[in-house]
Amino acid sequence: MDTIDESRVFIQPLSADVSKGKVAAVDMLRLDLIHPFVSGNKWYKLWLSLEQARAEDAKRIITFGGAWSNHLLATSVAANLFGFSSVGIVRGTHAKSGFTDTLKRCVSYGMHLEFLSREEYDQKTDSVWLDALKNRYPRSFVIPEGGSNEFGRRGAERIAALVPPDYTHVCLAAGTGTTFVGLRNALPPDIAMLGFVPMKGGAYLREEIEKYLKEGKNINWRLFDEWHFGGFGKRTPELVDFMSRFKEEQGFALDVVYTSKMMYGLAELLARGYFPSEARMLCIHTGGLQGNASLSFSEPKD
Ligand SMILES: *Cc1c(COP(=O)(O)O)cnc(C)c1O
Repeated sequence: MDTIDESRVFIQPLSADVSKGKVAAVDMLRLDLIHPFVSGNKWYKLWLSLEQARAEDAKRIITFGGAWSNHLLATSVAANLFGFSSVGIVRGTHAKSGFTDTLKRCVSYGMHLEFLSREEYDQKTDSVWLDALKNRYPRSFVIPEGGSNEFGRRGAERIAALVPPDYTHVCLAAGTGTTFVGLRNALPPDIAMLGFVPMKGGAYLREEIEKYLKEGKNINWRLFDEWHFGGFGKRTPELVDFMSRFKEEQGFALDVVYTSKMMYGLAELLARGYFPSEARMLCIHTGGLQGNASLSFSEPKD
């Protein structure tokens, strides 16, 4: 199953354990099924960058991420499928001496890894630093952390074609906000977009998203940042319980970093009676299940 196959995506109605009769429908768009490691939104954010790299006759893709990063792994696999070699710049040096499952997989798809201290990693958007990096790796195409470039935002617009117009709300987990921007720009403005932020202090994302919304598209959206469970990559026993219960009730898994926090938040909003009873909600399963391997570590690494 090592191909990226968008035809595996479908809309799965969720059992009433989620809606609890408060709204007309809560369904899930199963983007997680595209590929086990290029899952969900990552493929949509990457494809235009890869086409651009090909047009520029690049040989190699360079990108950035943490030791459990879904983006890093997705890039290693997708670059490989497109015939590029890849370089992964990893945040922090802790994983150098003990690769995570994610990093082992990146290497198995031919990704060369470099580990940077957090201080140096923070220079990843500095143009002088980036030029030096590109000099070390000639003919390379650089994709920013999280695939958060113009190609990522435009590429993600294509997800909107998978959303039938009779939904009133779309729920999406937001990290860099790249997918959120693409969807808000491309969805009809009368469909409300709700973003769930898994980071502590995620309010800054509002401005980040506004920067990239097209004219007339800064409309009918909001972000929730209260369900971060301690911060990005952090979790509580309550969240892990919620994930297991969801899997039992619905028959498929959520990821611990993004989609479980979104569904937990949505469950609370439903319980508070936040939505009108006619609401028809479509939640987007953005994938990331490979990162659940981090659950067997007592302290999540990133
Ligand atoms: C990367 C990721 C996101 C966040 O996407 P952004 O475009 O960065 O906001 C959401 N869910 C999952 C599972 C992801 O891996």
